[in-house]
Amino acid sequence: MINIAIDGPAGAGKSSLSRLLAKKLEYIYVDTGALYRAVGLKFSRLGFDTNLSGDLDAVLADTKVDIRFIGGEQRVFLDSEDVSDDIRTPVASMMASAVSAKPAVRAFLLDMQRQLAKTNNVVMDGRDIGTVVLPDAKVKIFLTADVAVRAERRRKELAEKGQNLPFEEVLEDMKTRDYNDSHREIAPLKQADDAVLADTTNLSFDESLELLLSIVKDGTR
Ligand code: C5P
Repeated sequence: MINIAIDGPAGAGKSSLSRLLAKKLEYIYVDTGALYRAVGLKFSRLGFDTNLSGDLDAVLADTKVDIRFIGGEQRVFLDSEDVSDDIRTPVASMMASAVSAKPAVRAFLLDMQRQLAKTNNVVMDGRDIGTVVLPDAKVKIFLTADVAVRAERRRKELAEKGQNLPFEEVLEDMKTRDYNDSHREIAPLKQADDAVLADTTNLSFDESLELLLSIVKDGTR
């Protein structure tokens, strides 16, 4: 199986670019952030805040997260309920970031990600795909952009979904998430030694996709 790992900070365009890349290559696209978001949603529904104090193992033992591909699109299920839309709120983002720092949560989701990559050609995106989940991926890309550019892209994306937030607030959330994701002890966000850096700060969406396609072409020939 051919595995392509795409890591990078929030708002770098990973999901939209990875989805299109997968389509072009006819691979499955796996958005691992959605798995952490689903776990975050579970804790949030149970009344936990980002401090996550309490018996996490007991909650995980009673949690089922799985993904299904419906019409070629990934849908995420939490305890058999399709939560693909509910996980896209700013609160779900912060909860995802909080739960993702917990070793028990990472272990809980690791096997599922590896199984998917073992049985399918995948483009898998996340924070630790090239470093931890798929260290032998054929192609590894670290996708990034300037934080202000990422925040503006995210602000627009949320506004299109009817969630109008001030730029400053989105920027602050993004900086907090970047900090948490890259400073946690377990599987922090970092570029794998053998990953190719793709900086999209000054690139349009189409140019970014072209860049990724050329990196994949080079890496798989
Ligand atoms: O990619 P997305 O922004 O949806 O991810 C939500 C959160 O899940 C991230 O901020 C990060 O904390 C966590 N995550 C992770 N490892 C991954 C994917 C996401 O820790 N492979």
